[in-house]
Amino acid sequence: MSGLTNRGITLTNRPAGHPQTSDFACVEYPVPTLLEGGVLRRTLYLSLDPYMRGRMREVAGYTTPATLGTPMVGGTVSQVIESKSESFAVGDYVLGYDGWQEYGVSDGKDLRKLDPSKAPLSYALGALGMPGLTAYAALLDIGKPKAGETVVVSAAAGAVGSLVGQIARVLGCLAVGLAGSDEKCRFVTEDLGFDACINYKTQPLDEALKAACPNGIDVYYDNVAGAVLEAVLGHINLGARIPLVGLISQYNAVTPPPGPNLMSLLVKRALIHGFLVVDHTHREEAFQADMSKWIREGSVKVVEDTVEGLENAPEAFLGLFSGKNVGKLLVKVSPDPTQ
Ligand code: NDP
Repeated sequence: MSGLTNRGITLTNRPAGHPQTSDFACVEYPVPTLLEGGVLRRTLYLSLDPYMRGRMREVAGYTTPATLGTPMVGGTVSQVIESKSESFAVGDYVLGYDGWQEYGVSDGKDLRKLDPSKAPLSYALGALGMPGLTAYAALLDIGKPKAGETVVVSAAAGAVGSLVGQIARVLGCLAVGLAGSDEKCRFVTEDLGFDACINYKTQPLDEALKAACPNGIDVYYDNVAGAVLEAVLGHINLGARIPLVGLISQYNAVTPPPGPNLMSLLVKRALIHGFLVVDHTHREEAFQADMSKWIREGSVKVVEDTVEGLENAPEAFLGLFSGKNVGKLLVKVSPDPTQ
């Protein structure tokens, strides 16, 4: 197949503070001719994730910075449209890391086949993918919740947080979320079954946490850090566990924000344990089995926020930081033949 034109979204500036749509450009370039062993696929879904903000910096944290002028990186679900590899056939569905573009080409070593009869393809980027493993592994392996304990999670209506609270409920815990609007809080309690949810933008945090967690907090699954972490630390129990998974409240900070008072951690002998999902790939098999079962049984609901069209990726990405998304934010880049 030749003559195909690729369309991608590139980063044109490294943003200071909140990124703007003007930091991105939509560009066209030819799809290269396929070499022996190569696999060409069309992107069906692109995952948008907060870590991408870190990639936009000149000096990234635990990841390499995005290169200006090339398509932004990102997880993708694609369909193979041409193959010169023995491992992949035309029509196969694959999980890859092709970034913000309509076509991807490689030798296939970076691809994992997906079976659309097992779960909708897009779940591989959310509940059955990296965010799902993040929710599952950090909660179970660092949070170690026991039935009857209280689990609090921030960004509770998002990709990771929405799963954390639901898993906590599966395990017999009291699940309390924090989210940025009354609508999200209603969604988290009424639709996802959390026991309570606090609007951290409007409610006094101390009083609200005291009311929602009468027995104190045993596990705080931290997705945001900052003021919420500081408030939660005043309510943790002896031996509480705090998976420190994300600090989204600080991702756009221009100057380092003042940190929380960590003294409470010392006094209560609590543990903050940094988490990187890449360290937990050995949990993949158990995670896939448990999460697939919970989804099948209906004890975990999969929440997806799908934006149509690659050209809308930059604006949708910015919505992660103003709280526009509910559940896993995806871009539908081309029609999903399984739907
Ligand atoms: P979400 O789907 O939760 O989307 C981000 C949400 O964060 C927004 O919807 C918004 O919800 C909330 N938010 C945005 N800005 C702020 C702020 N200033 N203060 C508080 N909340 C804010 O994203 P994910 O589920 O993909 O990621 C959640 C967290 O987990 C992120 O911090 C991410 O970096 C981290 N993560 C870490 C991984 C690891 O390996 N360590 C792997 C995957 C994710 P609201 O309206 O409620 O404010």
